[in-house]
Amino acid sequence: MTAPFSYLRVGDNPDAVLDTATPGSQLLAGGTTLIDLMRLGVMKPARLIDINRLPLAKIEETPQGLSIGALARNSDLAHHPAVRRRFPALSQALLSGASPQLRNMATTAGNIMQRTRCPYFRDVGVAACNKRDPGSGCAAYEGYTRQHAVLGGGPHCIAVHPSDMCVALVALDAVVHVRGRYGTPVDGATAREIPMASFHLVPGTTPERETSIGLGELITHVTLPATPLAARSVYVKARDRASYAFALASAAVGLEIEGGRIRAARVALGGVATKPWRSAEAEQALVGHQASDATFASAADAALASAVSRPDNRFKIPLAKATLIRALERAREVT
Ligand code: SF4
Repeated sequence: MTAPFSYLRVGDNPDAVLDTATPGSQLLAGGTTLIDLMRLGVMKPARLIDINRLPLAKIEETPQGLSIGALARNSDLAHHPAVRRRFPALSQALLSGASPQLRNMATTAGNIMQRTRCPYFRDVGVAACNKRDPGSGCAAYEGYTRQHAVLGGGPHCIAVHPSDMCVALVALDAVVHVRGRYGTPVDGATAREIPMASFHLVPGTTPERETSIGLGELITHVTLPATPLAARSVYVKARDRASYAFALASAAVGLEIEGGRIRAARVALGGVATKPWRSAEAEQALVGHQASDATFASAADAALASAVSRPDNRFKIPLAKATLIRALERAREVT
């Protein structure tokens, strides 16, 4: 049953959020994760701050690339002509996630802040979940782990980060812009920029801390630099059924190829890690080498070299390698 909470709708001033965010508050945008978890009794905010009237929904081309408002809906972003043309992996990732109805509601910032789909986390009847109840243990670690992570986990938590969009944003060198209480003073508040690859945290001993922002901070927008890599970017997702399913493994890649040789590469993995996972090892195995099948196979081996599996999720290692190779092959074909 949903616990009692108060509701506050802020107007068009982003700084009003900074003033009203108190311990126990949660920001409400599309609500596709938050309301779901409130109904399950997993999240029990004392106060919901509805931010849907903030003027943060614009998607704009800039001289540097693209600026995406925090409240831009996933469907608007996926179908935006500049995204489809200049950042195809982002459009592909968005369209591979959820359903059209959910994409119409879900926002950019909400997608970034979404919570794990670990079934133990979502079931309040399970007592041991460090992410939901710090210090309580991890039911998944010795439990059923088919959906769980092979990269970035440990005995305290092996939950997968569920977003498709974030995997593409990591591969596209996205930067998250935050307004709040920490950082450089700007117009009475402060602002800071966080590279997408370091925005989410691995669980370590504190799985309840999922991102590098805190109470009283607001994502205002995300920027993407326009690069040759971005134009030759691809997202590939493996899942149990063709739609409305979370990734078992996914890969977002960007390649810059000249004369058959890879000049620059970005590789990010989803469905297999505790955060949207940039693989510096795979990138290193690609750059300077011919864009050949052999190079792609080496990159896939490098990406999964540090994977730690359990009996139920062992299949994810070969699946992730195959998914990454498929993405690299498709990026090579882009003209
Ligand atoms: Fe909780 Fe993480 Fe363990 Fe799942 S994997 S039960 S989210 S601590």
